[in-house]
Amino acid sequence: MKQISLILAVVVICGLMIGVLSSPGGVLGSSEQEHHFVGAVGGENEYNRGRAPEDWWGQIERMHGHVGPWNVLGWRIGQAALREFDTRWGLHELDVICYVPIETPYSCMADGLVIGTGNTIGRLDLRLAEVVSLDFIHVCVRRKDGTGPVLIFRPGQKYLRHIDAPKLEQLEKLSRQCSNMAESDLFEVTRIMPSKAEN
Ligand SMILES: [Zn+2]
Repeated sequence: MKQISLILAVVVICGLMIGVLSSPGGVLGSSEQEHHFVGAVGGENEYNRGRAPEDWWGQIERMHGHVGPWNVLGWRIGQAALREFDTRWGLHELDVICYVPIETPYSCMADGLVIGTGNTIGRLDLRLAEVVSLDFIHVCVRRKDGTGPVLIFRPGQKYLRHIDAPKLEQLEKLSRQCSNMAESDLFEVTRIMPSKAEN
């Protein structure tokens, strides 16, 4: 009797394993295999029902705890990226990589990018990459399907030094200033064609 139940258990476990190994698209919401990065699928579908916050400032405050110039800089870059790639908030058609020193206030930019694009770290369509100093800060954006250019958003060094280590009482003023400045005074955009791209 014991032997029979042992055999049964082995059969059941093997059956389960075969099921798991052979099931297509094991990762919920993962992109197709030909995509260069396995993250959440983009586009107009049930995975992307979120809508842009009407009050982006309040949303940053609720999520991040405060609004600082680094948040707003990330938000501005996110908005510019959506426009440049002709896509919309929350469609998740873009991959965004934020290159910053892994310390605040620099990393605060990432949460601005979340509110600015709808992309998140958990969906793997927003990622942090470490650089060793302020001089190398930039945000790299490309389409998830690999078509088109890679855009590099590089904040101006003069501006970065202006908001480096902001005092608490300056946060609001610097943030308002960042939201009102011309994009060209905040960052420059470089367009790179990856060698593999066909269009
Ligand atoms: Zn912050």
